[in-house]
Amino acid sequence: MPLEIKHIPVAEVACSNCQACCCRLEVMLISDTGVPEQFIAVDQWGGETMLRLADGWCSALDRQTMQCSIYEKRPWICREFEMGSYECLHERSKHL
Ligand code: SF4
Ligand code: SF4
Repeated sequence: MPLEIKHIPVAEVACSNCQACCCRLEVMLISDTGVPEQFIAVDQWGGETMLRLADGWCSALDRQTMQCSIYEKRPWICREFEMGSYECLHERSKHL
């Protein structure tokens, strides 16, 4: 019997139909990309992450559009997070 392998069509995976699932993840700041101070949380050891709000979402997320409000200055980790990647699909499966 052939194995059933389910593929999610790439066309269906898009940030525009996602509600920014990955913007609930912890994002460490490991290089200076110009993120404005008010969006940065600093821990007791001086480590910096994107400040998240009580509901878990990144403080830099525009709630009207569900898009990044600091896109040009977004952290390196956000730049590396690829739409359609394993991590992306994993986050979508948790929230959508
Ligand atoms: S990268 Fe993936 S998880 Fe993040 S907003 Fe886009 S589709 Fe959603
Ligand atoms: S900085 Fe922008 S892309 Fe990165 S988690 Fe926050 S809202 Fe999402």
